[in-house]
Amino acid sequence: MPDVLSLSSIDVKGKRVLIRSDLNVPIKDGSVASEQRIIASLPTIEYCLQNGAEVMLMSHLGRPKAGQYAAEFSLLPVAKCLQQKLNTPVHLMQNWLEEEKINVNKGEIALLENVRFNVGETDNDEILGRKMANLCDIFIMDAFGTAHRAHSSTYAVAKYAPLACAGPLLMNELEALEKALSTPKKPLIALVGGAKVSTKLEVLLSLADKVDGLIAGGGIANTFMLANNLPIGKSLCEPELIDTAQKLSAKMHDRGATIPLVEDVVVADSLTENAKATEKEVNQIQEHDCILDLGKKTIDKLCELIHQAGTIVWNGPIGVFEYPQFAKGTERIAKAIANSNAFSIAGGGDTLAAIEKFGVQQDISYISTGGGAFLEFLEGKTLPSVAILQERKNS
Ligand code: AMP
Repeated sequence: MPDVLSLSSIDVKGKRVLIRSDLNVPIKDGSVASEQRIIASLPTIEYCLQNGAEVMLMSHLGRPKAGQYAAEFSLLPVAKCLQQKLNTPVHLMQNWLEEEKINVNKGEIALLENVRFNVGETDNDEILGRKMANLCDIFIMDAFGTAHRAHSSTYAVAKYAPLACAGPLLMNELEALEKALSTPKKPLIALVGGAKVSTKLEVLLSLADKVDGLIAGGGIANTFMLANNLPIGKSLCEPELIDTAQKLSAKMHDRGATIPLVEDVVVADSLTENAKATEKEVNQIQEHDCILDLGKKTIDKLCELIHQAGTIVWNGPIGVFEYPQFAKGTERIAKAIANSNAFSIAGGGDTLAAIEKFGVQQDISYISTGGGAFLEFLEGKTLPSVAILQERKNS
């Protein structure tokens, strides 16, 4: 169990609660384009309403310039969407920092306008955090997606609020991640795909100490192939990280853990929508080839490994899954994870897109709502806004 105060252990009746949600949703033509994050935030809001709290809600949306209102970053479309989903009035509050007390009618919601309009928010300004804290009796941190950022609305407010706790969404994320990484059912298999080793280097290094098997996919697999002296033609890779990839593989082998070798791949002349895909054994790869997916034999072996896993952690596609001729590897891996009996957890923007594309949402044990926060957790870091909740619980 995460060592933070949980909302479920607090009586919120008659209390003024300030919930920090992640309502940073895409907006198109003045409307919410994807409701995913709003829907994920609803149970916490409903819990507070049903238990008689006065509910204030805050979030950021996009990256507005601090100190300057801009309609395109307003939470107005979110307010409309929330009102419809909750079937209760949602009042969007402008200039809410100037209020000493925000009046909320019973059963209704005050949605505080985009926290990033405030100067100091992204600098974790303490005075700003104190002002937020003064509005409430209980601060509820529920925005896992921004839990890796120490901002006034995710950190300083938690420091000064009379009581600071984790909401159910954050709690579920932390529990699922701990279950996968701290107390995993063995063997623990991690799949790290995507374009570049460099963006996931910290993740790979941290996982190398923990996992029983590490499957590299996408452009990351290419760098590992090069580190094993295999030809990769003109595929995407990072030669400056060959040394790191070799050390990481050696560390894994010393621990008796595996990094499966790539045996065959799908190549094309270029990374383009209509490029012709050809399957090749690795020793047939030529200079003009671009590896854009793993081959059938390799995927068969990876699926077998996944089948035997007790726990699976997945971030990043196995190939260029956006184009059908290079999507087979990612599709088969996604389905293998969905069909396995292992506890599986997946996260990251492109991974969620792949999960949706191949329709396996229902069969992954836990899909994380956080991209950056998910990766930082995998890196073994304590997320700042979780750290302050721990500090508050234990002080
Ligand atoms: P990332 O943001 O690092 O997770 O990378 C995701 C992107 O990696 C997706 O858009 C994939 O199309 C791309 N990708 C996957 N495999 C390859 C590959 N072999 N070569 C180039 N890009 C790839």
